[in-house]
Amino acid sequence: MDLAGLKFTGNGQLLKWRRDLLDTYTIHVEVPAGVQEVHATLDFLSPATLESGFTAGSSATEKMAVISWNQVLLYPKGWTADQLTYSASVRLPAGWKFGTPLPVSSQSGGEIQFSPVSLYTLVDSPIITGEYLKVVPLNPGQTPPVELDIAADSPGALDAPKEVWDAYSNLVKQTVGLFGATHYRDYHFLYSLSDHVAHFGLEHHESNDSRTSERTLIDPELRIEHASLLPHEYVHSWNGKYRRPADLTTSDYQQPMQDDLLWVYEGLTEYLGEILSARSGLWTPDQFRDELARVAAQLDHRPGRTWRNLQDTADAASLLYYSPKEWDSWRRDVDYYDEDELNWLWADSIIRAQSGGKKSLDDFCRIFHGPPSTPPMVKTYNFDDVVNTLNQVVPYDWRGFWTERLTNHGPGAPLGGIEATGWKLVYDGSRSEMMRAWEDSHRAINAAFSVGLFLKEDGEIEDTIEGMDAARAGIGPGMKVVAVNGRRFTFDVFRDALKASTTSKQPMQLLVENTDYFRTFNLDYHGGEKYPHLVRDESKTDMLGDIIRAH
Ligand SMILES: [Zn+2]
Repeated sequence: MDLAGLKFTGNGQLLKWRRDLLDTYTIHVEVPAGVQEVHATLDFLSPATLESGFTAGSSATEKMAVISWNQVLLYPKGWTADQLTYSASVRLPAGWKFGTPLPVSSQSGGEIQFSPVSLYTLVDSPIITGEYLKVVPLNPGQTPPVELDIAADSPGALDAPKEVWDAYSNLVKQTVGLFGATHYRDYHFLYSLSDHVAHFGLEHHESNDSRTSERTLIDPELRIEHASLLPHEYVHSWNGKYRRPADLTTSDYQQPMQDDLLWVYEGLTEYLGEILSARSGLWTPDQFRDELARVAAQLDHRPGRTWRNLQDTADAASLLYYSPKEWDSWRRDVDYYDEDELNWLWADSIIRAQSGGKKSLDDFCRIFHGPPSTPPMVKTYNFDDVVNTLNQVVPYDWRGFWTERLTNHGPGAPLGGIEATGWKLVYDGSRSEMMRAWEDSHRAINAAFSVGLFLKEDGEIEDTIEGMDAARAGIGPGMKVVAVNGRRFTFDVFRDALKASTTSKQPMQLLVENTDYFRTFNLDYHGGEKYPHLVRDESKTDMLGDIIRAH
């Protein structure tokens, strides 16, 4: 879509081309006899306004840019990504600095020539560049070196307190300690802080392309909300890039991938990323537990599991990443992130219990992802390899465990791990620090666990939870709450009405606008505000505390 100006020449002559009718990413070029070399030129039309879409989304501002090679290159058919060699170069705006895992062969002013690498390595090695670029070594004097390369839209956004840099240094120590080996030559966190680029995290073998709001590192609420992003993407260097599902491993970018093992690729990464956030101090133990409570509560209000099992969220990943966000609880989303965080916690608790506290999921990681240290390489696996390695750590019916976890239809979330590690999911009227941070940064109210509504500050209904009071009354996403109990909607008016519901005999009355029409809905709800928390189950030991303790 964003490829333009495409021209091919041979012996100085313009060559004819036509797109393949079945595979629209393939271009057929007519090469006349006698032409030994074909030259291609093209432009990438970088999105001018804020657009999502991973590396195809907004990637450049006045002050910074991320260059993703997959957006700016072609490759000839008939070779694997390992077999093709590329000599890449870039010209940057005057004075801009850059960070990348790609080896530099020469540099003159803003012209940078990189060493020849395979197509695979090139696509796996983006560049971050900007006027304000801060490089923070995270393990000075150690090999392989790890650094943060942060580009921001303002110098002030880079002025984070010392404890932030210390926590990211701890992250490297804790993560390398967890796996016991590395599989990169050096590693770069390429971190964009901007309100004008697409926000996401994308893993690479020797780097990650992570992008959040400009003020993430200097605003305490944004900081805790996004704390687990970099840990998650870093873990992917081991789980995803080094160890990769066999059917997700393709020889070039044209081959379709099969997503059935994303519950390991993403699910285990999500679990490890979150516990490493706590082990490294990016989160306090309370913040970690509050986030776990939010995840568990959200999954416990997911009626879509009655028709779609967890395995199907992985199998349908290529659809679900781009699906609308409305009716999420009924459609289900890419749940193999959050739900498998709960499942891997459960697996961790089983290993700890079965081994009498001698083994943990850390041991699985050391066998599966650990020594010996290597440069970037791919070691593929399948379902049996996961089951066999778990059995190597501690014998158990792991095949049965994962088959049940992937195919059951609930009704509720898999809370076995939370319960086995000494905690209980409860709801009360107080918002945790994590929930407050989420609501503040989204300018929204999460009333999912009371009446089943997500509301924006103007009353717009982002989503409803199927089966909860609002949805049962006929309210749906896309509508807008105009008034509550006869008074114009504000967050405070809505919260006060929820609080008052516990003593009121009257239903909660919502005046709702839907496609220019107004209607009143009565919710016979008397439960007050409800927010999730984890509380200790004193009858069990606090295994969760051991899981998130720094090593
Ligand atoms: Zn991931």
